[in-house]
Amino acid sequence: MTKQTRQTPQTPQTPQQKNLSHLSVLISGASVAGPALALDLARLGARVTVVEKAPDLRGGGFAVDFRGHVHRTVLTSMGIWDEIHRRQTHMGRQTVVDTDGNPRVDLPAELMSGDVEIFRGELARIMYERTKDEVEYVFGDSIATLGEDADGVDVTFEKGAPRRFDLVVGADGLHSNTRRLVFGDESRYLRFFDHYVAGFDVPNHLALDRTGRVYSEPGRAAVVGNYDGDPDRAGALLVFRSEELSYDRRDVTAVKRILAERFAGMGWELPAVLKALEEADDVYFDAIAQIHVDRLVKGRVVLLGDAGYGATMGGMGTGVAIVGAYVLAGELALAGGDFRVAFAEYESRIRDFAKGCQKISGNAGPFFAPPTERRIRSRDRMYRLLASRPLARFFKRMTEKAATDIKLREYPF
Ligand SMILES: Cc1cc2nc3c(=O)[nH]c(=O)nc-3n(C[C@H](O)[C@H](O)[C@H](O)COP(=O)(O)OP(=O)(O)OC[C@H]3O[C@@H](n4cnc5c(N)ncnc54)[C@H](O)[C@@H]3O)c2cc1C
Repeated sequence: MTKQTRQTPQTPQTPQQKNLSHLSVLISGASVAGPALALDLARLGARVTVVEKAPDLRGGGFAVDFRGHVHRTVLTSMGIWDEIHRRQTHMGRQTVVDTDGNPRVDLPAELMSGDVEIFRGELARIMYERTKDEVEYVFGDSIATLGEDADGVDVTFEKGAPRRFDLVVGADGLHSNTRRLVFGDESRYLRFFDHYVAGFDVPNHLALDRTGRVYSEPGRAAVVGNYDGDPDRAGALLVFRSEELSYDRRDVTAVKRILAERFAGMGWELPAVLKALEEADDVYFDAIAQIHVDRLVKGRVVLLGDAGYGATMGGMGTGVAIVGAYVLAGELALAGGDFRVAFAEYESRIRDFAKGCQKISGNAGPFFAPPTERRIRSRDRMYRLLASRPLARFFKRMTEKAATDIKLREYPF
């Protein structure tokens, strides 16, 4: 288990900025939502511990994007806007191809990659690097039990010694452990959208240079993209329509078997992609699903990011997570650490915003993998229209509308 201890911040802060120094906060999950909140809380002086189940900060993953003035305001306030730009992918167009690789339609970058796009792992690394001296990160552990009383929360861990915190934040993703412990079983909250998605690295055998290829057959699709200009490496994304499957998410061999079965006999470059899958060390695999909870708050425990309002893909989950972290930390600051007031404000401010973003994500499965040949053809016709200037602008405005549909308050960061 790796452990970093908290050190005194080097930058002097005003008393107003330090107004949460009496609060100890445990955050479960160190991907996007967790480190974003840790960054915001640390600059307000709170004592923050982040516990992450993985043995180290999880790298890799797919590219995530930001769009519109709300994301920009939050990332600028966090001090990471410029660095995100320095490390952005610069992804270009994606081309829908037929089984022989002939282009059918081009999708311009601004439709697919927002204002700025970065790998999820890189984003997590930026926030981790900025907080690791002030925030205690505990890797390779997980919350086992939570027991709340009037003054705090007693926490036991799977490995570490029991501890007590003022507040606990579940930022541990779609399959949140914190949510299960406090709010109940996942089956009550997870809505399955009839598709699965997988992502893994493949060799760049198509010699792509910051471009992508999309190939669909009824009910299944493959996207191969070179996002960062690395001449040797590309990312593969597989999407398929399915009934709900019963499998162990952590069993990579089982996941590879499912994918090999589902994509057997598919045309285009699938033989090469499946060969690369056999050798892939890390495979992301999950249902395309959304989380809908009745409440984000129970006593001193609060849900943030995918744990509270996840949407898998197409719902700007990363943007929602960083806005959620900003609002949660800001409301705690405004309320001087009074969590009852702050959590209620956070819940009422973020709920509709998150719902609006979830609404535009429900179609991600059929968008990539339409169920019939006819639907594939009509999707491509729609792509062609979308790629035309006026409709591209309309589509951009539509996604930006969801991404900006929240009025941010002035917070004392
Ligand atoms: C294919 C795909 C493409 C996407 N594209 C985009 C995009 O373009 N734009 C966008 O905005 N969003 C996108 N998203 C969504 C985005 O990745 C998530 O919404 C975002 O990462 C939310 O982050 P999170 O921190 O809430 O959850 P997660 O990123 O899921 O992180 C949860 C963390 O908790 C840890 N954890 C799990 N269990 C425990 C435990 N028991 N104890 C401690 N830690 C635990 C996990 O290891 C992980 O580090 C995409 C998602 C997918 C699947």
